[in-house]
Amino acid sequence: MSAESTGTLKGRPEALFPLFADVETLPGVGPKSAKLLAVLRIEKPVDLLLTLPQSGIDRRKRASVLGADLPGVVTVEVTVGQHHAPARRGGAYRVAVEDAQTSFQIVFFRAHDEYLHRALPTGARRIVSGKVELFDGVAQMVHPDYMLPADEGAEIPDFEPIYPLTAGLTQGVMRKAVTGALTRLPDLAEWIDPGQKAQQGWPDWADALRTAHAPRTMADLGATHPARVRLAYDELMAHQLTLALARTQLKRSKGRTTTGSGTLQARVLAALPYKPTGAQTRAIAEISADMAREMKMNRLLQGDVGSGKTLVALNALLIAVEAGGQGVMMAPTEILARQHLEGLRPLAESAGVVLEILTGRDKGAERRAKLAALAAGNIHILVGTHAVFQKDVEFADLRLAIIDEQHRFGVRQRLELGRKGAAVDVLVMTATPIPRSLSLAQYGDMDISVLDEKPPGRKPIATALVNIARMGEVVERLRRAIAEGRQAYWVCPLVDESKMSDLSSAEERFRHLRAALGEGHVRLIHGQMPPEDKDAAMTAFQNGEASVLVATTVIEVGVDVPNASIMVIERAESFGLAQLHQLRGRVGRGSAASTCLLMYQSPLSESGERRLATMRDTDDGFRIAEVDLEMRGAGDVIGTAQSGLPRFRIADLEGQTALMAVAQSDARKLLSDDPDMTGPRGRAARVLLWLMERDQAIRLISVG
Ligand code: ADP
Ligand code: MG
Repeated sequence: MSAESTGTLKGRPEALFPLFADVETLPGVGPKSAKLLAVLRIEKPVDLLLTLPQSGIDRRKRASVLGADLPGVVTVEVTVGQHHAPARRGGAYRVAVEDAQTSFQIVFFRAHDEYLHRALPTGARRIVSGKVELFDGVAQMVHPDYMLPADEGAEIPDFEPIYPLTAGLTQGVMRKAVTGALTRLPDLAEWIDPGQKAQQGWPDWADALRTAHAPRTMADLGATHPARVRLAYDELMAHQLTLALARTQLKRSKGRTTTGSGTLQARVLAALPYKPTGAQTRAIAEISADMAREMKMNRLLQGDVGSGKTLVALNALLIAVEAGGQGVMMAPTEILARQHLEGLRPLAESAGVVLEILTGRDKGAERRAKLAALAAGNIHILVGTHAVFQKDVEFADLRLAIIDEQHRFGVRQRLELGRKGAAVDVLVMTATPIPRSLSLAQYGDMDISVLDEKPPGRKPIATALVNIARMGEVVERLRRAIAEGRQAYWVCPLVDESKMSDLSSAEERFRHLRAALGEGHVRLIHGQMPPEDKDAAMTAFQNGEASVLVATTVIEVGVDVPNASIMVIERAESFGLAQLHQLRGRVGRGSAASTCLLMYQSPLSESGERRLATMRDTDDGFRIAEVDLEMRGAGDVIGTAQSGLPRFRIADLEGQTALMAVAQSDARKLLSDDPDMTGPRGRAARVLLWLMERDQAIRLISVG
């Protein structure tokens, strides 16, 4: 406990001390370099070791620049010819040289004659190494990296690693510091399963680092080199161990057996105007089996927008009620919480189940009355915003907690929730289709149910890109559409980070559309509106009183109005792919054919164009997520900071999905064989967690 509050953990294995010293203890690193290294998140020797060279320079000597790949680094022996000092100040100083087959020039800017005559005396043999480029057909080496007498050529390494740098830091400082750090490598016991290691041909940890820092060819720098794969695996393993530890801890903390009778579910099913899809039925079965187990449920329900997660949630909540308990569902926004209330209450009532809402808006006597009813068990199901988890909210017998649209919350909040209800089963739902590698990374501690099937009868959404210059035509088409009884969302641009400017653009559009389409037809909704106004606007749109809902991105998540069949997104290029997909998912929910107009302002950036084209070409959430991942990288896609996902230095989430899957099953197996991590491999794996600074995991093993 005290370790947590001070932020430092006790018990780091002594063998690791040299790697966790100050970087300034390394050769050639002073306060100035230390500051620069910190920019690269290198604060300790271990950070340096895990920062691998990203490329390399082949400096093997060749006979001539002739035939070399230019521009490129060339190392050749030359005979020095004439020097040509620049005619004017600031011009190029040229030295003619001749190698075994051709002549070329070595070029300097702002160099001293005296120095150059000493370095390259006319008539002498020299080995030079540097980047050669063609200028007007003449090969030139500008500012060589090396100029040595012919017999000292051995000083030039055949292959030089190139590290990521920051302004002011040189390769020389990096290499020297890395060399210093490598001398400190301790001999650590192996944490990888011996069979796995042998089968893959992976080196020991220390050897892997030595090899990775001493590439001899370009091939040694490839992500598939065994040394690099091993080091990537170590990172993934440390992460998966952390998740697996959290998972075992949850499973160990005794849950309760919650078995539904099925009676309430049957009544609700009878009241539904449709039949559940196969995927929904499957997910409900998985959840009900999990709830019936004595262990605590920690499950993710993943399903693209519109796949019908809410019905699955309702069934799970009913199981809790059938077993004599209560359930709670938390949504990320007030609008969504209200929508759940409106959609679910009639169904709940048809089964005699009491469903209530609790949000930040509940105050005073009304709130107290709800809390009392909850504590007395007179409310069976509670929906709401994060207000449902405030300290003074007590349940008579809470058995299930559901978080809707989990991606809006972070891993941290999820883990907090797990801590809160001691024996409460947890179901989190997300519509963000994320590629498998990321879901393994982010949800590796959970069991997963997937809704991979949409309710039948959905018509595909026709998506078109429209230049914003054609606004007039769009408004005209909209007028005709609403005359036919259709409803439309109009999403206003994401101007910048400031909410105020989003707001003013929405208000301006609202006035414009009202003037064009008629006062009564258009409503406005945005985040800063008083709550009652938001409700009123939403209700007017839901019951068809209003035809057009002008909105900021508050409608992005979860809003469900099946009759709405047109989505206009203004300045669509300013939105990210995931957001566009969520927004478009608001339509295509009813039986009418739907349209999505992505209005853009030209010229489009390359990435803007790719995003919009992706949206036009596919509505497959997983495909869209993959493009998103490719374009933005893992950290941004799920928001590293709040996702609780570590920043991997070596592992590549985009490229190493299979490795992540292996790490997950390995980590789970290691813990099931050795839950206390006290066996030889378990102890070695503890060292790995220290090495990778997985504090969260270390806390779990130190309490356990
Ligand atoms: P999401 O997974 O995005 O939360 P919802 O639960 O909001 O999706 O469901 C989207 C829409 O599909 C709702 O209008 C819901 O009533 C409807 N729906 C859900 N399941 C089915 C089904 N099996 N058949 C037909 N419509 C369904
Ligand atoms: Mg939903």
